[in-house]
Amino acid sequence: MTTTLHLTRAHNWRTSAACQGVDLEMFFVDNPGTQARIQGICRGCPVRTSCLADTLDYEGQSHMRWGVVGGLTTCQRRALRCEALLGNRPNLKQARVLSSPVWAAVMVPLRHRGLSPAQIAVELRAHDVLVSAVTVRVAVWWAGGKGSVMPRRGPGDGRQVWELVRDECREVVYGLRELGAGNRDVAAYLQVSEDALARAIHAWRAEASEGVKAA
Ligand code: SF4
Repeated sequence: MTTTLHLTRAHNWRTSAACQGVDLEMFFVDNPGTQARIQGICRGCPVRTSCLADTLDYEGQSHMRWGVVGGLTTCQRRALRCEALLGNRPNLKQARVLSSPVWAAVMVPLRHRGLSPAQIAVELRAHDVLVSAVTVRVAVWWAGGKGSVMPRRGPGDGRQVWELVRDECREVVYGLRELGAGNRDVAAYLQVSEDALARAIHAWRAEASEGVKAA
């Protein structure tokens, strides 16, 4: 599949791809159910690590991202572009181990506690695992979890998503935009809709404008 997609270099690993013979069109469907099915195929693929590594390498140069590749959706790979801008690159071999059934007994309960990738990384130190948050994020995605970096709402916190972005994410949003990330990438990084991000940005601009008027 990867040959057909966009990789032009010789890849010995592609002959072991689990997606050989799968209808290519399915990899580009936006439907979440279809994407989940394709991600299920990638989950059992023996060359997933090489596939994603080469895909990220290619997309880092081309800025083109389509479909599910290497077990990650376009949105998840957009999030990794932002992570890279922030200086965070996943260790895919480590991510693969952490997403394997061997680690499920540790990882699944941590995910079910709603911990962020950074918090899971801290918890894993108790298991003698030193791992970066972005590596955990990929491991969680590969295992079918959300891997959200958004702060959690506490009990009784009725804020909408855009309000949470407005209140909690200003620094990272402006930081990513200064580093060259577009709104679509930033929304993917936060795993919120572009509309929610746009509303938060509008609120910050309105606040700044009020500040100028008051001065
Ligand atoms: S990881 Fe997914 S897209 Fe990549 S070769 Fe394997 S099945 Fe195909």
